[in-house]
Amino acid sequence: MKTDKKYWKLGRRELKTEIFDIDTDGSLLVREGNYQYRIMDLINHYKTPLEIVFPFMIEKSLLELTDTFNNCIKQAGYSGKFFYHYPMKVNQNKEFVLPIVSEGGNLEVASVNELWLVKKLWEKGRFNPNLRVICNGPKAEPYLELIRELKAKGLQIIPVIEDRAEMKHLLSPEGRVNGPLGIRVDVDLKIKSRWDKKINRYGLTPAEILEIGRIPRLKLLHYHIGSQVENIDDLVRLVREAMKLYSQVKINNPNLDIIDIGGGFPANYEKKVSYPYSGVVKNIVNVVKEMSDRSGQPAPDIVVEWGRFLVAPAQITIFKVLHTKKIDNAVAKKWYVVDGSFINDLSDTWAIHQKWHITPVNNMLDRKLDPVWLAGSSCDSDDKYTAGGSYILLPEIDSTDEQPQYIAVYDTGAYQDSLSSHHCLLSSPAKIIVQNGDITVARRRETSEEIGRLFGW
Ligand SMILES: *Cc1c(COP(=O)(O)O)cnc(C)c1O
Repeated sequence: MKTDKKYWKLGRRELKTEIFDIDTDGSLLVREGNYQYRIMDLINHYKTPLEIVFPFMIEKSLLELTDTFNNCIKQAGYSGKFFYHYPMKVNQNKEFVLPIVSEGGNLEVASVNELWLVKKLWEKGRFNPNLRVICNGPKAEPYLELIRELKAKGLQIIPVIEDRAEMKHLLSPEGRVNGPLGIRVDVDLKIKSRWDKKINRYGLTPAEILEIGRIPRLKLLHYHIGSQVENIDDLVRLVREAMKLYSQVKINNPNLDIIDIGGGFPANYEKKVSYPYSGVVKNIVNVVKEMSDRSGQPAPDIVVEWGRFLVAPAQITIFKVLHTKKIDNAVAKKWYVVDGSFINDLSDTWAIHQKWHITPVNNMLDRKLDPVWLAGSSCDSDDKYTAGGSYILLPEIDSTDEQPQYIAVYDTGAYQDSLSSHHCLLSSPAKIIVQNGDITVARRRETSEEIGRLFGW
């Protein structure tokens, strides 16, 4: 069987695998410009399970997105500006946040602790004072206290009102936060996404916002009602719906000048189709322009918070196949038991039946493949990956093989780390950062002693 680079869908820009290639020995290779990294060398040195982060992927993607928006804005003769805000909850690790800040990205935080990370960066004097932070999430007093403290120090922050009680509090003498405010609307449009809830509990309804009328210092109108929106034209439908409200709200709130369209652009987990965003970006800019022209209002600045699309491709997770087990009467013939855990470290596999692109790391060329299921190392029967009841094709393991079989799971950079856990007290994978020809350890593999301490031993 010809299992080459094309077969494994590597080296394809439109699938976000452009940095991957196969070496002459049939093992996985990563290219960063003229640097290259042999994954087998990294495995031999750092062992498995292993997470490998490629910050240069994030920098490149953000630059491309910013250029695309700016070009569309120019071509459309649009008078507003584009701002990217990175939703930190998608991955708060330093090696993910810093590349975004370094490429001019702004931030969006969801909790007091995420804002505290911003404070740490701010205190080092490493921020351009133009950097702006949008604060979402319920704002209990410690969160508001930190917002006030950082605003007093000169950081630009826009807290987003989540409900009426919060609005009342933010505008009251005791809860007051100075400066511009945002408000979140639950746009009245159903789309298919990872946010398939019949009833959304976030934000105010359009009717509620209109009923309030004037909201002092209102600068930003925000919505976020979908994640992994696979029909990307839905993103444009949402903008159109939100802009109807924007024009009406602007009548009573002349300071309103930002439309914040939230997250939702999909990551390419399955590599079955591509998600080109240039058409969507063009349509978003055109719709906002058309609707502001129609209402005779100035065009707003456009804020985008697409998270997983940007950071998912910047990490892969490597497992070793420990042993195989025969399966009777199923589409898969064998279990490949791996030395990591889906429940613990790729939790969305379990929580939302996430599908992943998976390839071997060695034996990639011209091997016979077996349909298999993957089993994690915890003792939970749910700790498995079956590609949604289908199977994964991986090299047949031969008892005469000198090397164990290693596998790579792609696009693991979004959401998995902060959701990870320690079921069966397995250690989290070690994590390394690969950039500019250098390799640094971001997280050592936890020792038994360290794990014991987490549990009071
Ligand atoms: C989670 C979240 C995002 C990011 O969503 P993606 O699906 O990762 O693009 C953006 N904005 C807000 C307010 C969020 O809660």
